[in-house]
Amino acid sequence: MTGAPFVLHDSYTRAARAFEPIDPANVRVYSCGPTVYNYAHVGNLRAYVFTDTLSRVLTWKGYPLTHIINITDVGHLTSDADAGDDKMEAAARRSGQDIWAIAKHYTDAFKQNLNDLNIRPPSRFPLATDHVPAMIAFGEAIAEKHCYLLDSGLYFDTSTVPDYGRLARSRDDEGEGRIDPVAGKRHPQDFAIWRRSPPGEQRQMEWDSPWGKGAPGWHLECSVMARQYLGDAFDIHTGGIDHREIHHPNEIAQNMARCGCEGTGANFWMHNNFLVERTGKMSKSGGGFTTLQTLVDRGFHPLAYRLMCLQAQYRSELEFSWENLAAATTRLKRIVQTVEALRARDDGARKGDAAAYRAALDAAVSDDLATPRALPVLDAMLADKKLSPHDRLVALDDFDAVLGLNLQVLTRADLRVRPANAVIDEAAIEARLAERRDARADKDFARSDRLRDELAAAGIEVMDGDPLGWDWRLQP
Ligand code: AMP
Ligand code: ZN
Repeated sequence: MTGAPFVLHDSYTRAARAFEPIDPANVRVYSCGPTVYNYAHVGNLRAYVFTDTLSRVLTWKGYPLTHIINITDVGHLTSDADAGDDKMEAAARRSGQDIWAIAKHYTDAFKQNLNDLNIRPPSRFPLATDHVPAMIAFGEAIAEKHCYLLDSGLYFDTSTVPDYGRLARSRDDEGEGRIDPVAGKRHPQDFAIWRRSPPGEQRQMEWDSPWGKGAPGWHLECSVMARQYLGDAFDIHTGGIDHREIHHPNEIAQNMARCGCEGTGANFWMHNNFLVERTGKMSKSGGGFTTLQTLVDRGFHPLAYRLMCLQAQYRSELEFSWENLAAATTRLKRIVQTVEALRARDDGARKGDAAAYRAALDAAVSDDLATPRALPVLDAMLADKKLSPHDRLVALDDFDAVLGLNLQVLTRADLRVRPANAVIDEAAIEARLAERRDARADKDFARSDRLRDELAAAGIEVMDGDPLGWDWRLQP
């Protein structure tokens, strides 16, 4: 491939390494998908802004791509270790709804979130529940050498594979989440391949298996779907940093058991750091967490959230705050206004060469997806007077392809999102502003001030002399 050398940070070796595709004609990426017992919170969505950036950069740099994001609709327990209840069953019991309807509802909502964030759909969204026979076959293939049966199900013996837990760097039993309540396990880190339904209890989702009626373990589903769609050894496996501790070490153990080799399954293991809130860790299982809809209801455009994510490199922790989101919105408005002005002046003439900006964009994102360094390159390109408006609009295609901010399409009007609690509509605002202009023309400042106050009471800030040329905005 041409362009800047492509380097990605691999969590398994804890090192930045040159990316070399296993098969240059088909780069294969697997991203752990959402557990669909509730809406995604904005932290979860950061994980998919990251995978979308990765997939966009791969595509832009010329690699044909197969990207899988699975949907976890069974198996994920309330603790990542083997404790607790299945999150899906618990949600169904709480709400009294059919578990399949819950899974469908939240899967659709997740896909809508991705669409709103301009995240490209992957090649496939396989559902865990469609792969239970393949999971049973995988379990049968490894059971004899690597598993043991307890009353509660079939367990993976982590001492049967070399260097278990290397990804987490915590072979000792003190590691996060290792305290384990399942009676009879040989080692605390051992995990369920198959969980038998407890006697006398019927689950909404359960299947027959050689180890009794029950449901598959969560870790098994990703090993099975990755293998089915991408093969035994593929290029990149992604997830949030929490998956580095338990879920991915367990996938790796299963993969080694299945292939009878020391291959982890993926050439690169990549993990995005967390989006954090000062009030504590974001949690879908806690009430009142922040979703994309929460942001929209407050009058923020989803792409402002995307920009907020891109302002941080994916391996840095990022703080969610309304101030940060408002700052990202202002930055996005400024960029969109610049692009609109260029469009107004575009006469098709070519003047200069934007290749240096393309190279700078490439250098930034090829360095472990350093999007914060790509954004000033965009600003500089848009402001470069040595380029004609047309040159700049053409060069913008590359930035849209990589950053996914949809700048060729987005307008300032799109960015004016009406908060859910707004009490006044746009036509009424424009009418009041016209009245106010008349009042000022008549030098009736008392009336002009009254109109401004009325608008303020309705949550509208009048912006006289705004450098970005906005007449009004919704008060944040
Ligand atoms: P889940 O739906 O809980 O299975 O999580 C979906 C994805 O979001 C996983 O890759 C998690 O590692 C990731 N994730 C969870 N919380 C956060 C967070 N606060 N910030 C970034 N990623 C997260
Ligand atoms: Zn997974």
